[in-house]
Amino acid sequence: MLTGGKKITDIKVYVCGSCLNHMHHAFKDIAHEVREFPSRAIFFRHDGEAYLFDTGYSKRVFENGWKSWLYNKLNPVKFEESQSLSEQLKHDGIDLAEIKGIFISHLHPDHIGGLRDFPESKVILSKGSWETYKRAKLFDLVFYNLFPENFERLVEKIDFETNKDYFLDGSMTLLDLTGHTKGQMGLLFSEYQLLFGADFCWGMDVIDHQLRFPARFFQKDFVAYQMTVEKVKDWQTKGVKVVVSHDKRDD
Ligand SMILES: [Zn+2]
Repeated sequence: MLTGGKKITDIKVYVCGSCLNHMHHAFKDIAHEVREFPSRAIFFRHDGEAYLFDTGYSKRVFENGWKSWLYNKLNPVKFEESQSLSEQLKHDGIDLAEIKGIFISHLHPDHIGGLRDFPESKVILSKGSWETYKRAKLFDLVFYNLFPENFERLVEKIDFETNKDYFLDGSMTLLDLTGHTKGQMGLLFSEYQLLFGADFCWGMDVIDHQLRFPARFFQKDFVAYQMTVEKVKDWQTKGVKVVVSHDKRDD
């Protein structure tokens, strides 16, 4: 395999379902339109070993009783089985058992929806996400039916200070993008100056639009959210390309 000397290779972005939101309900000073927000997951290899960042939606997000009903009421989900990350990886010839680890940005259903399709893979998440898992409140939007049965044994907890150079070779930095949730994690592929920022904002084209109240309410810590946005904008000015989970589709 030609890697150009890079440690991280084969980066591929998958869209695994989407949700619909009225832009004017979420943002100030924006057109009245309903936008489809794709839910992205990332595949990559490090030294040839396969990893994921988030897992998109799965049909299980509809199977959590009244919480699924309410979630779909506020945030209508569009999903077909062919869009599941597991189906798309298989279609690309990737054996699911090959996935060594799954980095989870945060625990919202559009990020952990596919987790149970990888019951043997290590799950790498921040201490903040772990604490949320242990003590979730209703508006933390944690659907416990989305976790594999042996989840707690699969978890590797990340401390952003000591584990940020995850592979110990400078190829990938784990970033603390707290605000949207406690300890939300982003991945910076240093060799490419490419940052996957999960939900630190809802789309790079709307990063400068103020959130309206209901959308603000769904940020765990709105002050931290704003500070993270400013931090990422600063990295952008220094040449980092930023992609978020729900960026507008360009196809
Ligand atoms: Zn989220």
